[in-house]
Amino acid sequence: MSAKLEIIPLGGLGEFGMNMLALRAGEDILLIDAGLMFPDESLHGVDVVIPDFRFIEANAARVRALILTHAHEDHIGALPYLLKIVNVPVYGTRFTLAVAQHKLIEHGLLSEAELHVVEPGDFVETGPFEIEFIGAAHSTIDGVALAIRTPVGIIVHLTDVKLDEEPIIGEPTDLTRLRQYGDRGVLALLADSTNVERSGRTPSERAVIPALEEIFEQAPGRLIFSCFASSIHRIQIIMDLAYEYDCRLAIVGSTMVRMVETAVAERYLDVPPGLLIPPHDVPRWPRERVAMLVTGCQGEPMAALARMATGSYKQLRIEPEDTVVLSARIIPGNERAISRLMDHIYRRGARVVDETTKRVHVSGHPSQDDLREFYRALRPKYLIPIHGDYRRLCRHKEFACAVGFHPDRVLVVENGQIVELDREGARLSGATVPVGRTFIDEAGFEEIEEFIIHDRRHLAEDGFVLPIVVINKTTGELEAEPEIVTRGFVASENGEELLDRARERVLETIAAADLDERTDGAVMKEKLRVELKRWIAKQTDRHPMIIPVVIEI
Ligand SMILES: [Zn+2]
Repeated sequence: MSAKLEIIPLGGLGEFGMNMLALRAGEDILLIDAGLMFPDESLHGVDVVIPDFRFIEANAARVRALILTHAHEDHIGALPYLLKIVNVPVYGTRFTLAVAQHKLIEHGLLSEAELHVVEPGDFVETGPFEIEFIGAAHSTIDGVALAIRTPVGIIVHLTDVKLDEEPIIGEPTDLTRLRQYGDRGVLALLADSTNVERSGRTPSERAVIPALEEIFEQAPGRLIFSCFASSIHRIQIIMDLAYEYDCRLAIVGSTMVRMVETAVAERYLDVPPGLLIPPHDVPRWPRERVAMLVTGCQGEPMAALARMATGSYKQLRIEPEDTVVLSARIIPGNERAISRLMDHIYRRGARVVDETTKRVHVSGHPSQDDLREFYRALRPKYLIPIHGDYRRLCRHKEFACAVGFHPDRVLVVENGQIVELDREGARLSGATVPVGRTFIDEAGFEEIEEFIIHDRRHLAEDGFVLPIVVINKTTGELEAEPEIVTRGFVASENGEELLDRARERVLETIAAADLDERTDGAVMKEKLRVELKRWIAKQTDRHPMIIPVVIEI
C-alpha cells in the first residue's frame, strides 16, 4: 500500500474556538491541540464547550501523542477532558505545560498525566511522525509552530502566529527555520484564518506602549486594566509602566492571579520590586498612585470587572474618575455583554478606553502581509486554511489565490471532513468523522472551592431546573413570586419541600444583589444559575442543568 496521510480537523474549522486536529498515517494518530470554546449568551446553563470526542474514543488505541501549540484556552482548554479518554503523552513548551498543569490539578489528573517539556529546536518522534517545534510569536508567550515529517512529506502547522520582530518576552517567529523547510519542500501548510480580512502586518505587541503611556500620563483617577490573563506581554508592559509612573498594582480575579503567579514562577514575567499590592490595600493608596489588573475583559457577568461595575468585588468597585482600559479584542458573541459592561462603568462616573478609541490592543493573529511572508518562506504545495468561521476559511482561500496559489491547491475544509494526501496530491476524501460540540458544566463561580465537574451527557439522568423570575427593569423589584419548573429532576420523596427551599434561595440571591445587578438580566441569570447549582448539588448530590429565565419588564 502506498503511503497516505489524512488530516482530520475535529474543531476550529468553520467556527471560532475549540481548535483540535488529528493527523492519521496508517494505524497512528497524532493530535494537535485540544481547545475549548466559551459559550455565548445563547447557551445558558453551560460553562464550557469542547469538541465531540467520538472519533478519539473510537480510535483511542491508535493515538500516539498530543502536541499543544500554546497556552490559550481555545488550544488547551479541553485537555483534561481529552486525557480522561486517552491518556497519551503531551508535548508543549514550559509555559504552555505550566498552564496545562493547573487544569490537570483541578481535575485530579496531574499524577497520571505524561507531560514532556519541549523548546524551539527540539524534535519529537512518535509513530511515523517527527515533529520539530519552531519558535512563534503570538499574544501569549512560548508558542510554537510545528514542522511535521510524515510518510508523505512535510506538513507545517502555523497556528496563531504573527511576525512580531520584537516581542516583549521571548524570540520573534523563526522565519529562518521556516525558510529552511521551504527549501526542503513543504507538502502542506495549515495557516490561521482569524485575521485574513485585515490588510497589512499585525503590529508588534510593543505597539500598545504609546497609548498606554498616554493613559498613565493623563488619567485623572485610578487605572483599571483588563486583558486576557494569558496576555503575558501585555501584563509585562502594564507592570513596567505602572512602575515607571510610581503606581502600585493590584492583581484582581483568580484567573489573573494564577496566570501571573505561573508566569513569575516560570521566570517569564519580571515584576518590578515593590510593585504589587493585595487588592484589599487598594483603598489605602492615593488614587493617582494605584492601578489594577482585573479579569473580565469579555464582560463575563461573574468576573471581577463586571462585578466591580455592578456592585463590588472584594470591596472594590468602579468609582467616578476611574479609567477602565479594555486591552483585548471582543470575541465574537460577546458584543452585547461588553456593551452592557461599558454602560455600567459609565453609569458609575468612570470612563472606558478600548481599541476603538486608542491602540490599547493589538492582535496576536497574522494579517495578510504576515500570511504572505509565511507563504513566501514555506512555498507549500497545498494550503489548508484553519482557525475561523466558514467565511474566513473561504476568504483565506480568496486571498491565497490572489497572491499566487492555484485554486486547486487551497483546500477549504470543515470539521469532520478528511483531507487525504498521497503521492498523487491532496483532496477531500469525501469521508467524514463524527464531530460536534460537547457542553460541560464546570465549577463556574470563582469563589466556590469545590469543583463540580460534570458532563452534560448526563443531562438525561439529572434533568433540568428552570427558575423563572420577573424583575422590573427600572426598580429592580420582583414583579411576581419566583417559580421553579423542573423536568427529569426527581430529588427525593420530599421534592416539594426542596423546591420551596430552592425558591427561598432564589429570593435570597435576588435580595443580596445590588440594584445594578438586579436590573441586568444577564447578571441575574448567571447569579441564579451559579447559586442554585451549588445549592442543589449540596442538598441532593445531583447536578441538573440550571437554566434561569429572567423576564425584565
Ligand atoms: Zn492563541
